[in-house]
Amino acid sequence: MSNNELWLGAKQRLSALVGPQEFATWFEPLDLRLEDDNQAVLLIPNRFFAEWIQDRYRPLLDHALSQAGGRPMRLAFEVAERPADAPARPGLAAAAPPPLLHSSAPLNVQYTFATFVVGKCNEMAHAACLAVAEQPGRQYNPLFVFGGAGLGKTHLVTAVGNQVLRGNPGARIHYCSAEGFTNELIQAVRFDGLARFQEKYRQVDCLLVDDIQFLAGRERTQEEFFHTFNTLYQAGKQIVVTSDKMPKDIPGLEKRLRTRFEWGLLVDLQPPDEETKVAILQKKAAERGLELARNVAQFLAKQPENNVRVLEGYLTRIIAISSFQGVEVTLDLVKRVVGPLVSERQVSIEDVLSTVASQFGVKVSDIKGTRKTREVSQPRQVAMYLARRLTRSSFPEIGRSFGGKDHSTVVKGVKKIEELLRENPELAEQVRAAERILTEGGMGGGTRLKGGGV
Ligand code: ADP
Ligand code: MG
Repeated sequence: MSNNELWLGAKQRLSALVGPQEFATWFEPLDLRLEDDNQAVLLIPNRFFAEWIQDRYRPLLDHALSQAGGRPMRLAFEVAERPADAPARPGLAAAAPPPLLHSSAPLNVQYTFATFVVGKCNEMAHAACLAVAEQPGRQYNPLFVFGGAGLGKTHLVTAVGNQVLRGNPGARIHYCSAEGFTNELIQAVRFDGLARFQEKYRQVDCLLVDDIQFLAGRERTQEEFFHTFNTLYQAGKQIVVTSDKMPKDIPGLEKRLRTRFEWGLLVDLQPPDEETKVAILQKKAAERGLELARNVAQFLAKQPENNVRVLEGYLTRIIAISSFQGVEVTLDLVKRVVGPLVSERQVSIEDVLSTVASQFGVKVSDIKGTRKTREVSQPRQVAMYLARRLTRSSFPEIGRSFGGKDHSTVVKGVKKIEELLRENPELAEQVRAAERILTEGGMGGGTRLKGGGV
């Protein structure tokens, strides 16, 4: 077997294992040289790239090569800067010239303290953010804000940035999501720009990182973030981090990062009560030039919806329809517009659990339990899939309702069913039937179908 065949075979396996995007980033640019029958050398474009590959993909590479070669292979790494006249490798061809690291996402100017409605649910988080914005790096450092989707985390952390800039227009504020931080780091590593990346992050006056839970399980990124954090912290620079859960509940978050987050102040955002929802809705409507009558705002606030983003979505739709049809925003109109949206989402996780349980002939407690036999694990995964599809719950929320499972278990379960739906028509029909029952109340509620318990 030649070099080429071996590497092609290994690449096919790698591509199947990691998915196309990761494959294009990390494996496409590599080359392989065969030293002898059992020894291969991987040629990697630069040192950081090599470290990254060794850290994260070593076992995968060993596995793919041995499989492709049909024998155990030893693998060495070699950093091979490409000579200027050599033909460009496909993966690196796009690399020249290296893209500039994208700079800070501009702060959303709408997200200020003035546009934030304070209620019991968020007064502590609001006060802490305000204190930090008035005296960055002084009182609460780091500040860690956590809470569910649509409760105002991004709004508040952005408000900190906007406020600091008002007091000091020259301040270097950097806002990014943890996902953005990760992608930027990957680009930096890939294109030899790590030093620039580090310099940029370690020079800011105020670092605002949104949705830090994204770092779960990403060791290399956590390490980089850790060093950035330390540098800034020691220099007395303010760090504000948001998350959908407390540090201790973020799976795969290194202890040293967790403890650092806990050094500062942790504040949470709770779902808004009805009064706060009314105030938020009226404020949002006013921002769009609409004076929302109190009874209308109250009707909307009574809907079983805590995600402010979704409530705003109702408002957008109401405003659009009222302007298309040239009619006033009345309670009647709002009921007409919002009614269908609300009933669409009235499926609860509990409904999903009981419907799937009865359809598959298992108990709800089995689904919430941990037994791994197929009779219960498949209905469990189907329920996760339907919960994700039919309720607005996040993966962590679903995990909690399924007997306290980790969000990654839910992600895996949902993925698994998505795959099975393509391969297994009988299961697909069962899932569709469950979905009909849940959304239309059809099929006489929980009818057990033929083939239950596959
Ligand atoms: P998160 O980041 O927690 O998911 P966001 O900060 O993106 O939530 O908030 C979602 C939407 O709800 C935004 O448009 C935000 O302005 C609005 N919002 C949330 N809470 C409030 C509040 N207390 N006052 C005003 N707007 C709010
Ligand atoms: Mg957010």
